[in-house]
Amino acid sequence: MGGVSLPAQTHPAATQALLAKLGAEVVRTDEASCFAASFDNMRLSFMPEAVIRPATEDDIGVTLKLANEHRVPVTVRGRGTGTTGACAPIKGGWVIHLDHWDQIEIDPVSAMATVQPGAITAHINDRAAPDRKSTRLNSSHSGESRMPSSA
Ligand SMILES: Cc1cc2nc3c(=O)[nH]c(=O)nc-3n(C[C@H](O)[C@H](O)[C@H](O)COP(=O)(O)OP(=O)(O)OC[C@H]3O[C@@H](n4cnc5c(N)ncnc54)[C@H](O)[C@@H]3O)c2cc1C
Repeated sequence: MGGVSLPAQTHPAATQALLAKLGAEVVRTDEASCFAASFDNMRLSFMPEAVIRPATEDDIGVTLKLANEHRVPVTVRGRGTGTTGACAPIKGGWVIHLDHWDQIEIDPVSAMATVQPGAITAHINDRAAPDRKSTRLNSSHSGESRMPSSA
């Protein structure tokens, strides 16, 4: 991978407004957080201006409302294990990072699984009912991958 660039400050007013609403625990603007969210397994880095780790669905609503008002590009990210650069923020802006949203619910009657976007494929397989050993979510690295494109 090439050299590390500092987070691009293309929408400073919008980022400040988001920080004021959600706080620095949710809205990360430090170089390490931005760099970690700048690439996936394709390893082409595009620095975002901020990384949002929402605590609630309302946090996502606040983020998207401000992004629309200020025309800030938004990229959603799971674990970043994709191989196509799809979650790299090529236009900068904000990354919504949902790796920590990993709840899994499986209805024992219908066998319907309801999972959050950060759920790890292997954990879903583990939680599937005993008589349904496979969910067919058998990524070659299911211990790491999340739901976005394996589902
Ligand atoms: C060695 C290796 C083997 C792999 N094997 C497989 C395989 O067998 N099967 C397979 O399907 N994939 C495979 N992959 C690809 C990848 O790991 C999976 O596609 C995985 O599901 C991606 O999950 P992620 O959370 O890391 O997504 P990310 O890489 O973070 O994102 C992938 C895409 O989903 C979007 N996205 C992420 N979260 C959300 C969300 N909440 N809402 C809307 N969009 C969202 C991103 O913007 C991006 O476009 C493999 C990758 C590697 C490196």
